[in-house]
Amino acid sequence: MIKTDVCIVGAGPVGLFAVFELGLLKLRAHLVDALPAVGGQLTEIYPQKPIYDIPGYPSVLAGELIDNLMEQIRPFEPGFTLGERVESLTRLEDGSFELETSEGTRISSKTVVIAGGLGSFEPRKPALDRLAEFERKGIEYMVRDPEIFRGKKVVIAGGGDSALDWAVYLADLAESLTVVHRRDSFRGAPDTAEKVKRLAESGSISLLLSSQLAGLAGTDTLEEVQVSTPDGEVVLAADYLLPLFGLSPKLGPIADWGLTVDKRAIEVDTRDYSTNIPGVYAIGDINTYPGKLKLILCGFHEAALMAHSASSYIYPEKKITLKYTTVTGIEGI
Ligand code: FAD
Repeated sequence: MIKTDVCIVGAGPVGLFAVFELGLLKLRAHLVDALPAVGGQLTEIYPQKPIYDIPGYPSVLAGELIDNLMEQIRPFEPGFTLGERVESLTRLEDGSFELETSEGTRISSKTVVIAGGLGSFEPRKPALDRLAEFERKGIEYMVRDPEIFRGKKVVIAGGGDSALDWAVYLADLAESLTVVHRRDSFRGAPDTAEKVKRLAESGSISLLLSSQLAGLAGTDTLEEVQVSTPDGEVVLAADYLLPLFGLSPKLGPIADWGLTVDKRAIEVDTRDYSTNIPGVYAIGDINTYPGKLKLILCGFHEAALMAHSASSYIYPEKKITLKYTTVTGIEGI
């Protein structure tokens, strides 16, 4: 059981900055994200796009902003559980909380901050018989740990950036790698598509273009992937199939935690971004209130107000005074 002062659900920019504001008040944070990397929409959707409305940055790449936020929160040593979705949130009698993830990780926390953005990014799944039977038994929708593919027979399906990036990365690691794509050209970055084609020409990987996944076979775990190609059906021996058809955000389990939700967003009190459950806060794109703007800088402001209220929730007797970082600094906090 992981123990923390504040469990933050969602490691997007707002969840990350919340670690800083909580840290200034000496509160320890643990972040959980369904994605295997931090950064939320900035990492998943637009890492190479410049953002122009972050105060103090005339322009900053989304990926660079996330790197800087990670650097900014480093002194507070937050904990991370990545690649796991928070499934349940239970408020205990003493006002503290217990959370459990999709992988069974349990977290005991004095308060909870939901910074879940548009919801957790869920994989788009292919329509195949026996798909559910082989999930986590050969079928993976995201790469949590590339090492599990070392020396294995791997099939990647998809033609976007994720499929191409992993094809290049896993080409050396896997015993065999086949990329299956339904079109005859790729959607992903042209230079990565070029690398994939060169790997195929050199015989390091196999390419099945204008082809579709057709079926799965195996006893306890995945053993074969059937592919329908222009030349007929091909059966590939496979330890792993990675259908990388993109991720779409879904509110997911957050909708079942007893929070007041309006149009897929959590209603909050703008004094401190608290929800209807005492001790649970919602900040960033996941919340709604009159005048809400889904902007990163609004989420940063919400994190500051939330932190002061969360501190009072945990330590009701403690008098909190606003201290400037120019006076206190960061080291030794
Ligand atoms: P997110 O970035 O959405 O992160 C939320 C995280 O929570 C996700 O990683 C998700 O996996 C995780 N999560 C959700 N539910 C769970 C769960 N149950 N368990 C575990 N993890 C969970 N904003 C600007 O201010 N300026 C811009 O120029 C700008 N440009 C944009 C361009 C594009 C193309 C897009 C799509 C958005 C843009 N935005 C911009 C909006 C900005 O990206 C969002 O406001 C910001 O990402 C919100 O941050 P967040 O931390 O609240 O949520």
